[in-house]
Formats: sequence, C-alpha cells, structure tokens
Amino acid sequence: MNATHLAIQVEKQSIYNLSEEELTSWVIKQGIQPFRTKQIWKWLYQKKVNSFDEMSDLSVGTRALLNEHFSLASLQEDKVQYSKDGTIKCLFTLNDGNLIETVLMKHNYGPSICVTTQVGCNIGCTFCASGLLKKVRNLSSGEIVEQILCMEYKLNEGRGTAKPKKISHVVVMGIGEPFDNYDNVLRFIRIINHKAGLAIGARHITISTSGLATKIKTFAEEGLQVNLAVSLHAAKNGLRTQIMKLNKAIPIELLMEAVDYYLEKTNRKVTFEYILLKDVNDQPSCALDLAELILSGNRRHLIYVNLIPYNPVSELDQYQRSDPESIAAFARMLRAKGVNAVIRREHGTDIDAACGQLRSKQLRQ
Ligand code: SF4
Repeated sequence: MNATHLAIQVEKQSIYNLSEEELTSWVIKQGIQPFRTKQIWKWLYQKKVNSFDEMSDLSVGTRALLNEHFSLASLQEDKVQYSKDGTIKCLFTLNDGNLIETVLMKHNYGPSICVTTQVGCNIGCTFCASGLLKKVRNLSSGEIVEQILCMEYKLNEGRGTAKPKKISHVVVMGIGEPFDNYDNVLRFIRIINHKAGLAIGARHITISTSGLATKIKTFAEEGLQVNLAVSLHAAKNGLRTQIMKLNKAIPIELLMEAVDYYLEKTNRKVTFEYILLKDVNDQPSCALDLAELILSGNRRHLIYVNLIPYNPVSELDQYQRSDPESIAAFARMLRAKGVNAVIRREHGTDIDAACGQLRSKQLRQ
C-alpha cells in the first residue's frame, strides 16, 4: 500500500455523516445533477443497501465517485447477546478499533433502540460500567446512524420474505453523554427524523443527559419535538455528588434553572431518570426530597419520574439493587405527593444488561 492509497483511505468518511444538504453540495461539486441526492438517500435509508454498486439507477461513474469518497460500513459486529425477552445487545468494533455497544428492545409500541454517542464517558457516574472507561472520542453522526441500520438488520434476521420491521423509537441513552457530543448528536437526530431519511418521528426520539445545564438551554432553542430526559438520581447535592461526580461542577440549582428554562421555552415534558440504589438513594426521605424538588417551582405537570431498578455491575460492588418492595414504596410516595412516577420495565436482565457492561467485559478480556 503506498502513500496515495493511505491518503484516500484516511479521507473516506461514512456517507451517513452527511445531511441531505451536505450531500447535495458534494454532488454538485462533483458535477453530478442535484436530484441524484434523493436517489442516493433512497438507497441509503429506504432500500438500505450494503454497497454503492447496488445503486442501480446511478451511473457507473457516480457509483465510482461514491466508492472513492465514502464508506458505507463503519461498524463491524463483534459480539451479540440475545435475551429471552427479545432484547438484542450488540458489541461493535469501529474502524479505528474502538468498541461500542447498542441495545435493541422490543416493546408493545414497537422496536426501540438505545444508541451510544461516545467511546467511553467522562461524566463519572459512580454506578455506571461505561463511566469506568474514560472518553476516548466522540462518535460521528454516521456512526450513530449506522447503529440503527445494523440493529434493524438484526431485527429482521431470519424473517425471510416477510415485510421488514422498522425501528420505531430511539433513545440516546447508551455509552456517553450526548450533549458532550452536541453537534454530531443533533445532526444524527435531524438525519433519522428527516422524512427522506429514516423518518423516525421526533416524538419517538428521547435524548438523555446527565445534566449539562448550558446545553439543555441550547437544546431548548432548537425547536425540536424530541423528548428530553435528565439523569437526576438524587435531589440533594451531597448525595448527587456522591452518585454523579458531575454534580460538583453543575449542582442541582444550576441544573433546575436550566430545566425550568427548557420547560418554559418548549412547554414539553421532561423525564427525570432516577436509578434506585439500595440504602443509598431509595429511602423514603429521598422520595420526599425528590417530590419537594419537583413540586417547588412551577414544574409539577411537566416533570415525570422514571424509576430505574439498578443492574449490578461486578466491578462496582458498593452498589446493590433495591428490593422490589422499596422500589414500589418509593413510587407510591411520589404518587401520593402528586408526582407522575413510573417504574421502568426491565429488559435483557439475563444478558449483560447494564450500560457499558458488555464493552468493559470485552476490554478486560
Ligand atoms: S450513566 Fe451515562 S453519563 Fe453517567 S457515566 Fe454512564 S454513560 Fe456516562
């Protein structure tokens, strides 16, 4: 392989990184007619081809240019786990050898995917397997889009000629802090939401942040109908800092100011994620603190609480799962105070269910 070959390889980027407008600019620059963009997007997002050569209504020259400039596969399947409840967890190797994981869950409202946005994470949630491994880099928008395409392929494996199933819901809640990779995540959302892209409805997309206050405010200005979830896990600063190191830099007061700004600007609901850790944040006093935080201010009707039973991680033995009775009692106390609270249904408990668990296991090996 000579230097020219190397240069060409380095320049090749995933075609899924490009918005429709960016692809149109590229097409025009190559002297190709702009309407070809629509044809290319159709092959990518509706016909979901695996090679540019399958794009049969494009000229040989256009396909050669696409081959020269872009790649179609940034993700290689490394390991797959299948749960009895239909959950599929995939470990992927990226082009630079880094590992990420993606989870597909089957709900009664349709197949839902949890995507990863960074290789590792710097937020430092002390209960999280992903946080054990520091951030290496951000994922490109194309690498996030491809997680959906790969998992949709898995969803349809073995279904023969039956009508292909589509992933209908997306949660941006896998490894990484999505707002620490803001531009690529927003670009990803716009591509999958685009009617000529994957056409996944904005209200079927949820982005979950650990609480980057400034970015929550920026997100409020985007005019998107995407759902926002915020990982709270404790309603008092001391406890939240113990659970999430980020709270030292962005305490609850700053976070709530940003949440209030978002609520006022968008009038959309916000979900507070609350992972229940036995004898750490699952006591009745914690439920009362949480209710008080939500009910103070004008937030009552727009805040929902999602209670998440903890999936233990072997490297983090300081945390245990709360008893089912404590979880139910916690939910009851919130509801009695007038807070909308649900207990999240669990998926994939018979496989490495915790976020980042499969990846960290593989890296240790
Ligand atoms: S829970 Fe999310 S934000 Fe926190 S360390 Fe894990 S991946 Fe990062």
